[in-house]
Amino acid sequence: MCGIVAYVGHREACPVIIKGLKRLEYRGYDSAGIALMNGSLNVYKKKGKVADLEAALADVDTHGNIGIGHTRWATHGEPNDVNAHPHYSTSRNIAIIHNGIIENYASLKQLLIQKGHTFQSETDSEVFINLIEDIRVNNNCSLPEAVRLAMHEVVGAYAIVVLSKDTPNQLIAARKGSPLVVGIGKGEFFLASDATPIIEYTNEVVYLNDYELAVIHDGQLDIRTKEDVKKTPYVQTLEMALESIEKGGYEHFMLKEIFEQPKSILDSMRGRMIAENDHLMMAGVREFENKFQNADRIIIVACGTSWHAGLVAEYLFEDLARIPVEVEYASEFRYRNPIITEKDIVIAISQSGETADTLAALELAKSKGATIFGVCNVVGSSIARATDAGAYTHAGPEIGVASTKAFTAQVTVLTLIAMIIGKKRGTLETTKLRQLIAEMESIPSKVEKALQLNEQIIGISEVYKDATNFLYLGRGYNFPVALEGALKLKEISYIHAEGYPAAEMKHGPIALIDEQMPVVVIATKDSSYEKIVSNVQEVRARKGKVIAVVTEGDTTIPAMADHVIEIPETSEHLVPLLSVIPLQLLSYHIAVMRGCNVDQPRNLAKSVTVE
Ligand code: GLU
Repeated sequence: MCGIVAYVGHREACPVIIKGLKRLEYRGYDSAGIALMNGSLNVYKKKGKVADLEAALADVDTHGNIGIGHTRWATHGEPNDVNAHPHYSTSRNIAIIHNGIIENYASLKQLLIQKGHTFQSETDSEVFINLIEDIRVNNNCSLPEAVRLAMHEVVGAYAIVVLSKDTPNQLIAARKGSPLVVGIGKGEFFLASDATPIIEYTNEVVYLNDYELAVIHDGQLDIRTKEDVKKTPYVQTLEMALESIEKGGYEHFMLKEIFEQPKSILDSMRGRMIAENDHLMMAGVREFENKFQNADRIIIVACGTSWHAGLVAEYLFEDLARIPVEVEYASEFRYRNPIITEKDIVIAISQSGETADTLAALELAKSKGATIFGVCNVVGSSIARATDAGAYTHAGPEIGVASTKAFTAQVTVLTLIAMIIGKKRGTLETTKLRQLIAEMESIPSKVEKALQLNEQIIGISEVYKDATNFLYLGRGYNFPVALEGALKLKEISYIHAEGYPAAEMKHGPIALIDEQMPVVVIATKDSSYEKIVSNVQEVRARKGKVIAVVTEGDTTIPAMADHVIEIPETSEHLVPLLSVIPLQLLSYHIAVMRGCNVDQPRNLAKSVTVE
């Protein structure tokens, strides 16, 4: 959601920033803009894609070594040229790019109007830059000092970068709640919402913390808190490879990421288990083994696909570790006055580690004394840093907005955690544990096999690409997979889809079934198989079209389904890692056939950094 890129150094700033904004396109946005110091402080911005901005710059002399660029995901004011960032202050001496929401913008705006400031846009961001200008003039202070003081006035979330006409070799950045990374090159600096625009130049980065201000001036990086306490920058070396953020011959990032799953699942379990001696190892869990062992309850907070991974974890934790689990939408949990005790463990799941609601939910739980555990993909992200301990999913950068490999990596990691805790609590006996570990080890090759279904699924997609509704049904471990399948289809093909526990169908959705309704039933051989066979019959009896995901060799369901997708056999506990694969492929191919922008679906953002 929203992208920030800024540069100062010896290169031409404009191409670095434009390329960086393109790398951030996956986050979701509606307009793009750039401010350059080419003669004066000039702002160029456009509704639409970065390519539209680039076209608008074709006749501009963009020379200069400093600049700030932005992709906007509108919160305050519709997407148009005026509301796009950067925004000037009233004097046009300074300009800002902003990610986030300033909650008290309306009252600040009133005050600033009374003091003579004028506004061009409807954004909250323009209020921020005018506030900075106001403080600077009234206090006769430096610009960094004015930004620092303004941080005390604004309420809400922000990552900002400010550029001034008067200091053409200085960038000022600050953050609270929205991510911001500083890249440190040789005689050059980069600022970005995440590391993807930076890594082709340098892998040395500093993640800004909340309420920190970074001033880059004359080749120096100075970080201080909003209380003006100087901080020593904590420089981290990233291991991200450039190929991991490029399409590598695939038509879309989403397809690439679907096909990466044998490797990403392997990466998420790598070094964490050894089958021969039922050895399981996860540093973050080990630190808190006793807490997990004695926990009264686990509360999982997440949003979207991560919430679905959380639902799978509910089955796993209750089944293998016998700990009661509640899975919560972070956005509901945080505003509900939930009951949380010091004996609760809260697991926050987020691919980006920046999901605003999940971050706020964990902060709330922390304030009530719960132990907070994070499951994130992005190393160094806000959630990863805010938790007591955690486990990275190691899926590699996920660029496609519709999450695929991050989901299976989350499920893998959560399965390992459930196994570790089950072993520790004595609820998972050794023979079963060994079987599970051995089965886990075979998952990457079984996913590989499931990916061979691609051609068959293209055929099924042809048949249903024009459907207006879809129903997804599953039971037990496959119920969250049904939800995930429906979400994937909605997100990228804009077809209305509902996921349901198969038995719930009788309590409402069955009324929707007629000969037009494709019903995807995940009916693998597990403890609820007989039940789901009956559900398939019920759909058939109402002439619904059944697309069944079954275990290889099944003969019962193929006799009654319109289409049968066979996935390799595995343990019931691990089946989501396989059954989700054909559903990802189905949604992908249907979306492509409908001409949808798969990697950047409308209205959606990759990392939801506003609530
Ligand atoms: N709230 C700001 C706006 O609406 C920033 C949105 C963003 O994060 O892109 O312009």
